[in-house]
Amino acid sequence: MPPRITAYGGVGEIGGNKFILEDGGVKVVLDFGTGFSDGSDYFDSSVSPRWVNGAGDLFEFDLLPQIPGLYSEEALQNTNVGYVEPEFDAVVLSHYHSDHTGRIEYVDPKIPVYCGETTSLIHEAYNASSGSPLHGHPIRKFRTGDRFSIGPMEFHPIHVDHSIPGAYGFVVHTSGGTVAYTGDFRFHGPAGHMTRDFVDFARREKPRLLLTEGTRVGPEDDKANMSETAVKKEALRIVRGTGSLVFSTFRGNDVDRVNTFFDACREAGRRLVVSMKVAALLEKLTADEGLRVPRVGRDVDVYLRRKKTGKFDDSDYYAWERPFIAKGLTAEDVRKRQGEVFLHLEAWNFPELIDIKPDRGGIYIHAATEAFNEEGEKEETLIRNWVEHVGFRYAQLHASGHAPASDVGELVQGIAAKKVVPIHTEHPELFVQFNRKGSWVLEPPVRGKAVSIGP
Ligand SMILES: [Zn+2]
Ligand SMILES: [Zn+2]
Repeated sequence: MPPRITAYGGVGEIGGNKFILEDGGVKVVLDFGTGFSDGSDYFDSSVSPRWVNGAGDLFEFDLLPQIPGLYSEEALQNTNVGYVEPEFDAVVLSHYHSDHTGRIEYVDPKIPVYCGETTSLIHEAYNASSGSPLHGHPIRKFRTGDRFSIGPMEFHPIHVDHSIPGAYGFVVHTSGGTVAYTGDFRFHGPAGHMTRDFVDFARREKPRLLLTEGTRVGPEDDKANMSETAVKKEALRIVRGTGSLVFSTFRGNDVDRVNTFFDACREAGRRLVVSMKVAALLEKLTADEGLRVPRVGRDVDVYLRRKKTGKFDDSDYYAWERPFIAKGLTAEDVRKRQGEVFLHLEAWNFPELIDIKPDRGGIYIHAATEAFNEEGEKEETLIRNWVEHVGFRYAQLHASGHAPASDVGELVQGIAAKKVVPIHTEHPELFVQFNRKGSWVLEPPVRGKAVSIGP
């Protein structure tokens, strides 16, 4: 059988990437993530898949493909699908976002996970705090410029810029030709040159097939493209313009964003205060010198939530949290220093505002994507209610982790593959706009249908 690739997620949807690459009987999973709206017709915050049924409740709605030799004994033990020894040689991971990693928790831990060195640090930090879907798998680490072989396939991981450190695209040589896979990317972030490295490398390898993300390819022209530099400039203006508390929601593993707000705080004479989970991640990531993450204690402070007894006893906290207790800032500390603090607060921690009781007139910065679905709109309403409740002003400030449509078009032209499969997009058909010269074939993906890599 000629080498082929089959998509089981990321098909007509943003996120949920799940691909299977096969060559000469060797099978590799390329990303295995949770779709953003996976199962939302059947499950929500009050109705969840049952743990006891493992992958079974997800099979029911075709949220996971029923493929033999892929899932763990534990995930199958109470289902009517029998366990068999692994028939896959590896999971190769582009980056540590849940829409690329989430479903690995069901994969047989005998199957090794190949990921970038920074991704393995993020995994270690989360594995020790909130849990990681990579838990239990042997981890094989790579850096940009490395190459590794899995059976007849040779993988070249090349760094790309995205809203989490350690993101990669891959160029894979198979026995029937070369495939390029972008993962998630942008050119307008602080390390846009890395994505250009990927494009240059991929172009030289003359791929037959290009799988590219197209998150922002849509019917509406998404031209507004704020850079991270612009976010910093605006954040600095906001912070300098107020003597009150500033609090903000942003992804703690977006190290560019952490650095942006840290820089703005330093210039404005404020202290950035993060959650214990983010502090633990930053401490882990100091091992990656290229990232220049702020040091916990020296550069950023840690917010100390009340737990259990409410008296900040050591025994109220997990072992990984305890090192942060002595230096942590309580709600009362934040209230006393509200004009000197920039507090990172995720929505699920908003009840902390009840303890902090900030003076009215402060500013809330929503440094995340604007709502794009019903669930997002619900959360945005909730956030606005809290912001209004404490009498703060709401500001939206964000640089996307994804390239705008025009940049996706440039990548497609630049790599010049023979066939293009648009994934991680709701509008694969719109990629036709990038093919004015008709120099390649557009092949929108179909869930479960193999695409041949050979001629
Ligand atoms: Zn993604
Ligand atoms: Zn991503």
